[in-house]
Amino acid sequence: MIQQDIKFKKLESFINQALKKDLYTNRLVSHCPSCKCREYIKYGFYKGIQRYKCKICGITFSKTTNSLWSYSKKDTRTWMGFIELLLEKKSLRFCAKKLNISLVTAFYWRHKILHSINLDITPNKLRGIVHVGKTIIHENFKGCRNVKSININRDCPINLRKNVWIIGAKGDDNSMFVKPLFNSCWNLTTFNIKLYSRIEKISYIVHYGDRYLSQVARKHNKKRFLKVEADDSFKYFRSNIKDWFKTFHGVATKYLQRYLSFFVLLKLDLAISSVNLMFHNLLKGDKFIRTSKVRIIKNHLY
Ligand SMILES: [Zn+2]
Repeated sequence: MIQQDIKFKKLESFINQALKKDLYTNRLVSHCPSCKCREYIKYGFYKGIQRYKCKICGITFSKTTNSLWSYSKKDTRTWMGFIELLLEKKSLRFCAKKLNISLVTAFYWRHKILHSINLDITPNKLRGIVHVGKTIIHENFKGCRNVKSININRDCPINLRKNVWIIGAKGDDNSMFVKPLFNSCWNLTTFNIKLYSRIEKISYIVHYGDRYLSQVARKHNKKRFLKVEADDSFKYFRSNIKDWFKTFHGVATKYLQRYLSFFVLLKLDLAISSVNLMFHNLLKGDKFIRTSKVRIIKNHLY
């Protein structure tokens, strides 16, 4: 007797498997995930995905090991759908409802994805005309229970929130750097180590509205004066960043870098789709992050 499958469940599971197999085909495996050695052999397939065996420690692993999706029981389509909605900046509540996943899962997934974007987005060198801007935001303790505050006046407690300096820079070849660099006040040493060292010596620095950055630019450009058209991402850097955080109803300072990397990804003139984000970014290298590394307080999910 032919079994009925009116909801096309078999087809659905086949499509998911085919999609997963296809996504992982080009993923490079460079070492054993356990002992990190490079001596491993091919060891058959599991559901169409290549498996390997380490010659040193003997463990078996596959192209999916340590990828963003390791151990996830949800199907590939749901993940792809989530990335699509993330790129559309939809709220976690919306994503959860649309994809029929829990709000907590949606929260973890967003952080897993932002964490892995964060791993590869930073350019090594900024070249050509380099636009540099800054904004200062207050520390945000979203999701933290024990926020220190001092009560000078009982009606008006003051939180001990530091200022966080976010510095952004953009070079010619569509490379962009946006990071929280230091707290409280300007720190030239940290600036030099974390950002200035990445700016090529022959490049020209255009700064936006800050006396410290102006000093850096003057020293770097020496006697060169170029007429350069302002870059809107930097001319309005402060409001751009502020609006970005508003989309997420504020961002906890400990996760700042992840959300800034996501900001960079969407700001660059790249044609981003969930498919190319997946192929070019999320499937490269060891991306697995344990959910236990993401602290969560349910009242603060957005
Ligand atoms: Zn090994």
